[in-house]
Amino acid sequence: MNNRIHLLDALTANKIAAGEVVDRPASVIKELVENAIDAQATMIVIEIREAGKEYIRISDNGMGIHPSDVEIAFERHATSKITQIEDLDKTVSLGFRGEALASIASVSQVELITKTATSISGIHLELHGGKAVLKKEVGCPTGTTVIVKNLFYNTPARFKFLKNNTSESSYIIDLVSKIALAHPDKSFKLINNNIIVFSTAGTGHILHTITSIYGKELAKNMLTARREENNYHVEAYFSKIDMYRGNRQQQAAFVNGRLIKSKVITGAIDEAYRTLLPINKFPICFLYMKIPPSEIDVNIHPAKTEIKFSNEKLIKSLLISVLKDRLLQEKLIPEIKLTP
Ligand code: ADP
Ligand code: MG
Repeated sequence: MNNRIHLLDALTANKIAAGEVVDRPASVIKELVENAIDAQATMIVIEIREAGKEYIRISDNGMGIHPSDVEIAFERHATSKITQIEDLDKTVSLGFRGEALASIASVSQVELITKTATSISGIHLELHGGKAVLKKEVGCPTGTTVIVKNLFYNTPARFKFLKNNTSESSYIIDLVSKIALAHPDKSFKLINNNIIVFSTAGTGHILHTITSIYGKELAKNMLTARREENNYHVEAYFSKIDMYRGNRQQQAAFVNGRLIKSKVITGAIDEAYRTLLPINKFPICFLYMKIPPSEIDVNIHPAKTEIKFSNEKLIKSLLISVLKDRLLQEKLIPEIKLTP
């Protein structure tokens, strides 16, 4: 190695950057499903084989990609979602970095089949390690299908870091479940090794979505409650005290439509159920909140979405009371008897 400085070529730069955006099959799926949602799709099908390590296919009925944009879509910093930094403040789309397709394509073999409503035929583009190897016109419905094969085939160190198929598929199932819960108005179908894991109808009803994903038995044991205070809206779907889990996997909070993580929220759930559940057990709880955007600060990192509330106290007490009042109503909390 001589110590002269040179610029990395685009393919190498993308491969390195890919580590930021895609570290496992679930993160590829997250990016591709978010692209489908951004493209206003109402039906999204996610198919995986071998936990997504060998094969991932996402198809949507969204707006498609214009025939002359299919190649640039795979370049880094190529996005249709913002044009200047100021747009970031008003962007409502999930993506905007223009990195996902470039990153994914650099570490796998990708096929893109896409058609816009106004074009007569669709385009089929195939890339290996980020390089286009085939492009042809095809007949296809409006929308986009992305197939990702042999993820990390050219970065063996990263492939080795993946967990076994059971773990990697459970990341995927959990992720797609949470995305489907965040978008009850869209239909999601998840297929794993040719078996349908779940399929949501997209009716807009959250209880329908919960039933489709987690089954009738669970849905039957859920309570619901809603409340509004100071322009904060909460709608909650949560388990009665005789149904609980050993972890928080069946808890999720959505703020203004986005799945977010927050210690304030998990703390409030724990507090509402305190003394009602055995130790180290967690209720099932899905919280849908609408909060004025000026009252929250969302840090959107590709890997995680964290949130800061300007009024943590209000959020916490609102959540505790929504859950606790309904649990009380069920007469599940022993009432305190006043001695005469
Ligand atoms: P970003 O989502 O941050 O813009 P991506 O690399 O994920 O970057 O995608 C690049 C561009 O490709 C998007 O801005 C969008 O214009 C287009 N695109 C990607 N996926 C789809 C899709 N499923 N439907 C329509 N357009 C898409
Ligand atoms: Mg994207």
